[in-house]
Amino acid sequence: MQKRVAYITLGCKLNFAETSTIARSFSAAGYQTVSQRQQADVYVINTCSVTEHADKKCRNLIRRLHKISPEAIVAVTGCYAQLKPQEILSVEGVDIVVGAEYKGDLLHLVQELEKDRSKCVYSCERNAIESVFPAYSSGERTRSFLKVQDGCDYFCSYCTVPIARGRSRNVPISTLVSQAKEIAAAGIKEIVLTGVNTGDFGKTTGESFLDLLKALNDVEGIERFRISSIEPNLLTPQTVEWIASGTKFLPHFHIPVQSGCDKTLKEMHRRYDTSAFAEKIALIRAAMESPEERFTKVFFGIDVIVGFPGETDEDFEQTYRFLSELRPAFLHIFPYSRRIGTLAADRKDQVQESVKSERESRLQALCEKLHTEFLAANAGRSAKVLFESTEKGGMMSGYTENYVKVPRKFDKSLIGQIVEVTI
Ligand code: SF4
Repeated sequence: MQKRVAYITLGCKLNFAETSTIARSFSAAGYQTVSQRQQADVYVINTCSVTEHADKKCRNLIRRLHKISPEAIVAVTGCYAQLKPQEILSVEGVDIVVGAEYKGDLLHLVQELEKDRSKCVYSCERNAIESVFPAYSSGERTRSFLKVQDGCDYFCSYCTVPIARGRSRNVPISTLVSQAKEIAAAGIKEIVLTGVNTGDFGKTTGESFLDLLKALNDVEGIERFRISSIEPNLLTPQTVEWIASGTKFLPHFHIPVQSGCDKTLKEMHRRYDTSAFAEKIALIRAAMESPEERFTKVFFGIDVIVGFPGETDEDFEQTYRFLSELRPAFLHIFPYSRRIGTLAADRKDQVQESVKSERESRLQALCEKLHTEFLAANAGRSAKVLFESTEKGGMMSGYTENYVKVPRKFDKSLIGQIVEVTI
């Protein structure tokens, strides 16, 4: 009988791309994919460890899956598995816990365990995160997340990702172009470049991020590219200028600021201050927006952390004012989460949870206001929308080049098509 496998991805788009690649290896070996709510022979969980909450979510998930199928093999990988393997192994029902280096070997490890269930595979050699597991997602018919880089050398004072994912590294441009061609051959029209520190591409191959963008831009069949997230200091004026010169890269940037207070940025060990950040945003706007389109054409999604240790009311007010003046289209707001092993975790001046929640709510309200203004300014404009496959209540939706979500009545023939609409 065909073996059934379910996949659960926690966390970022990078994990999503990696799970999709793991899933392709299982499908090629004859496994049938089922939903996580169904009984399965194997559950693969790709974890995140960005917050304490993410760790807890993973442990609860394992317990729930073990209840659904007590005999199933539960294989756990990802950042949480890399950082705290023993914590995961202590949850009943877990069979395999492997870190970053072994993601590509999961099928093989599962097959070994199927032959001999007495084994419990556990392998997380912290110093061995050196290779890159090439990955792209292929579940959707419209968009694929292509992993272009892994790891990070920045060591921001609140972040465990460099410990979980290792040093910055990448596969060569030629490999990524081949993967992009595979994606195009599957009929997918949009690629989102993902990585841990995407703009740091080239560390191990001596290539540049801009050369990567140029090579991908030439791949036939792919009509749109987005960059999922990029550090502001790595988005160079040359890259901005080239993107703006009529390429397939869209006016959509996800850039983390983390704080609008220079004192806090310094303590976070970020590599820019608020002036440099604001200048970068102004540079992009000047290159991609005409005076009439100012603040309304480029979609900026900005990450911000509230309640970093030592953040005073005045520091937070500075962040609030900075973001109000910057006028991004969206804010991704994260209450600071204390992560053992980081510099910020040892600080005595931790901010109370209630204060973090209050600051989060204030920024949430600001985000709603900014997002509503962005949508209102785009209403009535004509735009190209790539429609997606999800049907909900007889409706479907797609995104414009500048990431405005446009709904319309479900029409199967539009899935994966780029259509000109009036927003
Ligand atoms: S740049 Fe900073 S926040 Fe981002 S992954 Fe690297 S260490 Fe973490």
